[in-house]
Amino acid sequence: MRRLLCMLAIALLAGCASRREPSVVLTGLPDPEYIEHFEMPAVEVDTTDEPARLVASIPPRYPWLPVDGISPRWRYLVIHHTATDFGSMRDIHQWHLDKGWESGCGYHFVIGNGTNSGDGQVEPGPRWWNQATGAHTRLTEEMAQRRGIDSGHYNEYGIGIALVGNFAIDRPSKAQLDALVDLILALMQECHIPLARVVGHGEVDETTCPGDNFSMWNLRTRLRNAQ
Ligand SMILES: [Zn+2]
Repeated sequence: MRRLLCMLAIALLAGCASRREPSVVLTGLPDPEYIEHFEMPAVEVDTTDEPARLVASIPPRYPWLPVDGISPRWRYLVIHHTATDFGSMRDIHQWHLDKGWESGCGYHFVIGNGTNSGDGQVEPGPRWWNQATGAHTRLTEEMAQRRGIDSGHYNEYGIGIALVGNFAIDRPSKAQLDALVDLILALMQECHIPLARVVGHGEVDETTCPGDNFSMWNLRTRLRNAQ
């Protein structure tokens, strides 16, 4: 009896002491039986002496995010057309290898037009996976001098995105434009690139790329409205 009174006193004192604290109600505690029958997933033990690598257990935000992250050097997004009726990342990679470009496809991303890849399909290339310098916007020496920058400036700091098609004659498909807007918005966020640095090839060099039928004004309006 004395012991019971003692316990009651302790309980009351404890109650007084914690009265000012908001009470926390724990819910969803697992049933002890559940714990007993719950089997922990098997853990694979790595016995190699390779340096530890972070294996993401959560799916990445975008399927094109490189495992080792994005280089901090990207400052521009440069929009192109392929000036061909058909193509895919695989095709362009081969065409550029045939030109003698060791790293293949000069663009970081290609957006298909439904010929050799899906309409609006975004394909990252080897230069994106390797976060390598592009080969898509080499300025003429005259232009580079006039602007006071190196002729390789936009290849070094620009992510090249090409839409398959010849927009001097045709128009980009709705699926291509939708995919382009989504990709640009994601890259602007991931690489901290402002809208003012989303440029058409012909806005920074003497070329008609990405074609007269591709409106950078429309693209910028869509991007501004989506931000
Ligand atoms: Zn171009």
